[in-house]
Amino acid sequence: ATWFSCVEMGPPIEVFALNKSFLEDKHPQKVNLGVGAYRTNEGKPWVLPVVRRTEQQMAANEELNHEYLPVLGLESFSSGATGMLLGSDSPALADGRAFGVQTLSGTGALKVGADFLHKHLKLTTFYYSSPTWENHGLIFSNAGFTEPRQYRYWNPETRNIDFEGMLEDLKNAPKGSVIILHACAHNPTGCDPTPEQWEKIADVIEEKGLFPFFDSAYQGFASGDLLKDAQAVRYFVKRGFELFCSQSFAKNFGLYNERVGNLTVVMKDKKCMAEVKSQITLIIRGNYSNPPNHGARIVSTVLNDPQLFKEWEDCIKTMSSRILSMRKGLQERLEKLGTPGSWDHITRQIGMFSYTGLTESQVAYMVKEFHIYLLKSGRINMCGLTTSNIDHVAQGIHDAVTK
Ligand code: PMP
Repeated sequence: ATWFSCVEMGPPIEVFALNKSFLEDKHPQKVNLGVGAYRTNEGKPWVLPVVRRTEQQMAANEELNHEYLPVLGLESFSSGATGMLLGSDSPALADGRAFGVQTLSGTGALKVGADFLHKHLKLTTFYYSSPTWENHGLIFSNAGFTEPRQYRYWNPETRNIDFEGMLEDLKNAPKGSVIILHACAHNPTGCDPTPEQWEKIADVIEEKGLFPFFDSAYQGFASGDLLKDAQAVRYFVKRGFELFCSQSFAKNFGLYNERVGNLTVVMKDKKCMAEVKSQITLIIRGNYSNPPNHGARIVSTVLNDPQLFKEWEDCIKTMSSRILSMRKGLQERLEKLGTPGSWDHITRQIGMFSYTGLTESQVAYMVKEFHIYLLKSGRINMCGLTTSNIDHVAQGIHDAVTK
């Protein structure tokens, strides 16, 4: 007998399963538009030059060692990360009522935040957009939230936000619900609310007594402009909201596997800060004790050095402009081919992904006939496109739509 015979098979994680099929495919023209990672125009992963150089300097520095970090991580990293999000001149920072803690990338920040909200504020209901990044539901459920709910977000007809639907769902949310909001470059749709729409969202969250939890996984990577991509969070802070914001440095620093993240906490008053920090410390201590150092040290070095910071900003611009040019290129090609439907949403959407509007059967056709790998939802990673494969992809979409 085994202890384990009671264990049921869990469902596969689509994006990793898709990646495996891609790697096993031997076709020379195969294209991976699945997993969310940046690729160069040669289809290769990119180590940012500023990151490479910082790593080389770290390796040569005999003073550095591998001692444990504190439970809340590297202080110079978390303050740099929180400053980058809120603005280093933010009144919330000046008042001492905002702080950051280092976490295991964006996922870890979401989990630590959700654990805290459930354990100490006794919150049980959370809302995520329909659709959203597939991990939100799992993270909050694992943290003990028992009431997962969705708010409407995507309107397939307009290929844009279903804003009325979203507001209506938020208006009906019970007091004390946590509302997960994508800070910028909504994954998977690539559609963000306008500043006017954010105002209305904030109004409802305020009126109904909801708790905003921002997820910021693409600051700078989305528009190429760090300030623009932080606009929504800063607006909420300016209006005086208490909030959490998870930050990931996977995309904007290309540090995916180093798990560099930060949880920013903004409160109304600094008087509860020591208590909150002490409880977050215990949550982390009981989960993984303390975070890794390598990636956080790189990010901290770059964020705190004006020259390196400038070099990093140039890298973000390189990545975001390549994505923009691929968006433009794909739309132009589909229009030239006369592919039925409108394709201007490809350039309207921002960030790493485009929600193409392709149906599940069209997606299956593209995988089978064109060896182009994309999620069943029709989401494509724009970074998987290159000047050498963009014609093939456009043709694949065209054939799938007209077959
Ligand atoms: N939130 C969103 C919306 C994301 O797209 C991602 C990355 N796929 C994350 C959070 C977190 O990723 P990571 O844990 O790698 O930082």
